[in-house]
Amino acid sequence: MLAATDQSTYRVRVNASEWIVDRASLPHAVQAETRVGAVDGRIVAVDQMAAGPQAKRLRGTLLPGFVDLQVNGAGGRSVDEATPEALDVVARAVWDGGAVAFLPTLITAPWPVLLQQIDRVAQWIETWNGEGAEPLGLHLEGPFLATPGAHIEKLFLDPTPERLGELLAAARGKLKLVTIGNARDGAAAATKTLTEAGITVALGHCDRGDGFTACVDAGATAVTHLFNVMGPLHHRKLGPAAMALDDERVSCPIIVDGVHVAAAMVRNAFKILGPDRMVLVTDAVGAAGMQDGTYSLSGIEVTAKHGVVRDGNGNLAGSALTMALAARNFLTFVESAGPWTLARIASSNPAALVGAASYGALTLGHRAAFTLLDDDGSIRCVR
Ligand SMILES: [Zn+2]
Repeated sequence: MLAATDQSTYRVRVNASEWIVDRASLPHAVQAETRVGAVDGRIVAVDQMAAGPQAKRLRGTLLPGFVDLQVNGAGGRSVDEATPEALDVVARAVWDGGAVAFLPTLITAPWPVLLQQIDRVAQWIETWNGEGAEPLGLHLEGPFLATPGAHIEKLFLDPTPERLGELLAAARGKLKLVTIGNARDGAAAATKTLTEAGITVALGHCDRGDGFTACVDAGATAVTHLFNVMGPLHHRKLGPAAMALDDERVSCPIIVDGVHVAAAMVRNAFKILGPDRMVLVTDAVGAAGMQDGTYSLSGIEVTAKHGVVRDGNGNLAGSALTMALAARNFLTFVESAGPWTLARIASSNPAALVGAASYGALTLGHRAAFTLLDDDGSIRCVR
């Protein structure tokens, strides 16, 4: 890697880039008038030295690129289609929506079908063409769940050692995150197996607290969409939402579209979780970045109306969110929060949760893929 101050060296490189930004959100502070340099897609300079004549001026605040841990689809296409063509569309739409990296997410399907989808999506990740947001690995949300939401309950399964073996074989190292219903038989043992294999476990789709702490003791470090499909938040009968808020080992991705979770509960959650444990996530389906209409989610027909996606029974079925929309909603709902907090909850925290060490901070050596928060409120990706 080049030294941070070696300006002349990287400027002569063909594939070098240089930006000068009004403000940059660094790990410990927001810094004014910052120069960022990159070579071969990696950050080689973050400083306040004079920029060269070729430097691109960016207005607003530069943040480390957003990372979305739950993307079922976007741009009219669904991850479960599992074709390179559909996944390329999703990756571009995720980028257009403000995230530079994401976890393509598969939901409950018949087990043999799911294994095939996992195999194909893993293959696409291995050969990703570099366009759009980078797929960091798979998120498997189902079938090891306890409470359906929009999933098909009769397809739910226990996470037996045999199934975990089949899963790991199909994913070939590309599995990053698995959602497990904590009350499911074998949930804690499965959590131990997966986390020992370097895979993050999130607890979710479970409306009771049984097994929750045992799974966290076994290595689970997150929940999946805090409050949604977790049962009510009750003051005496503790469920997963209360336990997640209370347990400082647990990070909490939350869908901030103003519908999945009311603005006041986003504020309440942030007061407890703070910038260390809150995570923005979209849970986007094909409707994200598109007009209202009918879309497919793992064989289920879902309808987007006024930007809210529901299945035929009226259950929320993913969202039409982009990370840019989620970020703007969060800044509206939590007035005290600014770009530094946003960088934590939309980039640093999700990247750390799945061990994506080259994302999550404007730091030397990290990927030069950023999210720019313009002064006019617009949000877009830059690289
Ligand atoms: Zn879900």
